Amino acid sequence: MDYEDYFRAQIDTLRREGRYRIFADIERQAGHYPRAIRHDAGATRDVTVWCSNDYLGMGQHPKVLAAMHEALDRYGAGAGGTRNISGTNHEHVLLERDLAELHGKDAALLFNSGYMSNWAALSTLASRMPGCVIVSDEMNHASMIEGMRHSRAERRVFRHNDVADLRRLLAELDPKAPKLVAFESVYSMDGDIAPIADICDVADEFRAMTYCDEVHGVGLYGATGGGVTERDGVAHRLTVIQGTLAKAFGVIGGYIAGSAAMCDFVRSYASGFIFSTALPPAVAAGARAAIAHLRDSGMERDRLHERARTLRRRLDAAGVPHLPNPSHIVPVMVCDPVVCKTISDILLDEHGIYVQPINYPTVTRGTERLRITPSPVHTDADMDRLVSALEDVWARFSLKRAA
Ligand code: PMP
Repeated sequence: MDYEDYFRAQIDTLRREGRYRIFADIERQAGHYPRAIRHDAGATRDVTVWCSNDYLGMGQHPKVLAAMHEALDRYGAGAGGTRNISGTNHEHVLLERDLAELHGKDAALLFNSGYMSNWAALSTLASRMPGCVIVSDEMNHASMIEGMRHSRAERRVFRHNDVADLRRLLAELDPKAPKLVAFESVYSMDGDIAPIADICDVADEFRAMTYCDEVHGVGLYGATGGGVTERDGVAHRLTVIQGTLAKAFGVIGGYIAGSAAMCDFVRSYASGFIFSTALPPAVAAGARAAIAHLRDSGMERDRLHERARTLRRRLDAAGVPHLPNPSHIVPVMVCDPVVCKTISDILLDEHGIYVQPINYPTVTRGTERLRITPSPVHTDADMDRLVSALEDVWARFSLKRAA
């Protein structure tokens, strides 16, 4: 077999389907978000970023940067080991306390990414509990699905956000079997929000544990940034709240929060926790600064939601179709992979607007989209440029307009 030929053929398939991904080579500029510099074929150009998950711009916030600089000078660059073997820095201990407090839980446990926290926690919880059955929302993130698969536990999938279907599946299970209901608060691609209280009611009825991925909720919802579970007053009802430090908190890392026994269990058995070097202490310090700032300040959250509402209104006025949802995520629907990619290229090349196309397998085929993420620092003028560029490409490709 010619291995190189094989690799190239596989890539060609992606290209034909319009799914081949090309990185935009951009330089974020501290203090200038959402502006960035794009490198392309030796030239540079200013662009406006409209697809970042640094939803509040905290990755460039002066308090976060100062905390990271200070921690770097104080502790050095890396953690120096796994958490068990020399890598537990005081910053990790403090951050886990802050995260537990943020969610009103006894404990929290850090991982190197949100992906790893889902993978490790779900695979450990389900595989280390004999007979455990996972009941999973059909739209759950890849990191949850991979963790559940790895656990080899029995898995049932309920229709997206459908509490009646969840109830039906739970009722079919052995009443004595341990059960885990896994879902997200804000779904990243459609931007819809789970009926968490109703899910908890049904889970309680069948004595199931609950696992909520709050990756797109923490920092952005709730009076102190504790996520949708805080906003809805249900954090105490969840067995596990999982989150990331990489989106609203602007750095990197993931975590779970819950009871002391549950966190200790995962800490003691999860290979994805045990065998990986701890996060750099400066990252932990930056995350603490972001969490503290967003606990005390609701300004960024309020402005983010106002910006999302304003963008929707403007898209409506321009007839550009977008998925209605109650969150900060604005999915503009193109519904064709090749057109979606082409439009994204035109926006970048001709308008200096950076919004990545979202194609299969991230979303189902036929629902390809531009996932637009406004932030508190996008101005009305930025929005004018975005909406008029979208109107332009919509006309050029004779795309379907919203009614
Ligand atoms: N869960 C969801 C719902 C996500 O969208 C993502 C990342 N896009 C993750 C988990 C993984 O988080 P991280 O980027 O911190 O690895």
